[in-house]
Amino acid sequence: MSAFLDGQVDDLRFGSIASSLDTYASELRCFLKFCRLVGAQPMPPSAATVQQFVAIFRSPDSAQKYLTALRWASDYLGEPTSEWDNRSLRQVLRGSLKVRSTAPRKKARAIRRELQRTLARIARRRGEISQATVYALAGTFLLRVPSEALPLDFEEAVEIEQNGRLALRINLKKRKNRPGGATLVRACSCPHDEILCPVHTLRDLVSAQRRQRRGRIFGMSPTSFNRSPSSRSR
Ligand SMILES: [Zn+2]
Repeated sequence: MSAFLDGQVDDLRFGSIASSLDTYASELRCFLKFCRLVGAQPMPPSAATVQQFVAIFRSPDSAQKYLTALRWASDYLGEPTSEWDNRSLRQVLRGSLKVRSTAPRKKARAIRRELQRTLARIARRRGEISQATVYALAGTFLLRVPSEALPLDFEEAVEIEQNGRLALRINLKKRKNRPGGATLVRACSCPHDEILCPVHTLRDLVSAQRRQRRGRIFGMSPTSFNRSPSSRSR
C-alpha cells in the first residue's frame, strides 16, 4: 500500500514539474508517459527503467537530451542520480552509438522489436490482452498506434493463407504518407516469436473476449490506451 501511494506521489510531483517548466517539459512528459506505459516508478527511476528508456531513441543525441532533462529533474527534486546515472548506462549509450554507426537501420529496428516484446509481455502478465494485441500488430506491421492500429476493424484484418502459411492481411484506408491506403500481409511468427504473432495474438483476443470477428477490434481511444496500464498496476 505504501509503495502504491509513493508511486502516485512520484507521478504527481513529477508531472507537475513537467508541466510548470518549459525547458525540459516535453522530455519529462515523454519519460513520464513511458513510465506509465511500462508501470515503472518515474522518480527516482531504477537503472533498468532509464536504460530501457534510452534504448527507444534512434539517435544518441536525443537520448542525451532526455538524460539531461532527467538529471535536472532529479536535482530539482533533491533525488540522487547515482542509482541510474552510472557506468552501465554509459555502456548502453556507447553501445547504441556503435550499433548506429555500423548498421543503423537494422539494429535500431531490432531494439524497437525487443521493446515491443517487452511491452506485450508486461501487458499479458497483467491480463491486458487488448493492449498486448495492439503491441503485436503495431510492432509487426509497423503501424502508428493512434491513427492506424487502434481504429482497425475486423473486416480490415483478415486471416489468409500465403505460401502454405497462415498470415494476417490488413487493409489500411490511409497509410502514413500514402493517402490511397495500403494492404499489408504478415505471416504467423509462431513458435519463435509467439508474443508478437499477428495471427495468434488476434485469435487469443477474440477467444478471450468471446466475440465475433466483427466491428472495431480495440475498444480503446489513444488516451485510454496510454492510461490503462498505470491505472491497473497501481
Ligand atoms: Zn502464430
